[in-house]
Amino acid sequence: MDKPKYKRVLLKLSGEALAGDRGIGINNEVVNEIAVAIKKVREIGVEVAVVVGGGNFWRGRTSEGMDRTTADYIGMLATVMNAMALQDALENMDVATRVQTAIEMRQIAEPYIRRKAVRHLEKERVVIFGAGTGNPYFSTDTAAALRAAEMESEVILLAKNVDGVYDKDPKVHADAIKFDQLTYLEVIQRELKVMDSTATSLCMDNQIPIKVFKLTTENILRAVYGENIGTTVE
Ligand code: UDP
Repeated sequence: MDKPKYKRVLLKLSGEALAGDRGIGINNEVVNEIAVAIKKVREIGVEVAVVVGGGNFWRGRTSEGMDRTTADYIGMLATVMNAMALQDALENMDVATRVQTAIEMRQIAEPYIRRKAVRHLEKERVVIFGAGTGNPYFSTDTAAALRAAEMESEVILLAKNVDGVYDKDPKVHADAIKFDQLTYLEVIQRELKVMDSTATSLCMDNQIPIKVFKLTTENILRAVYGENIGTTVE
């Protein structure tokens, strides 16, 4: 096989992706599958940073009646649960990992320190970032864009439950059309549901390409080898 296209990637896993078919909570089988994929990526010498979402437990913006910042902090805590579950699955497969959280919780994980995170990556450890950006009103997609910029990752691999970006929701509209390639501005102007606009702008300003594809072990590997799967935003 050819050489992988990237030396360092940032994998963004939505909370939903960790929940499997049930849509809520953590599905161990799914988490193990993801861990297998990450292990394979490590085995071909690619450095992997992961940002995990929390939507399988909680989303700040949809928690009616609650103070928004409080709701968002609960969401950030949810991402830490996912980070720990993924760490556990990886360590069971003898993949060295570190979890770093944007909100300090030292008994559970390291606090986020950029230089330390880079060092872990260089030492071939998988770094899992929890608690998003540490700020309410942001998303874990924005955390992914931010950490990708800070880690100087060459690409964001956005593994989702759908196989790419469509002009409308493919679950609702049978005639939805999938894009192979998009610019950041097209995503923002057409309000396409790839990432929120804050995250997309951050990627645009820092020229970080985003590859959106359906989460499978094979797809993660194909994306790392630079195959044109799903939709590429750049
Ligand atoms: N969140 C936040 N700041 C961040 C990242 C996340 O407040 O920097 C909160 C927010 O409430 C969000 C929740 O955590 O709804 C879970 O994250 P997200 O919705 O991005 O998870 P995903 O959709 O990827 O599962």
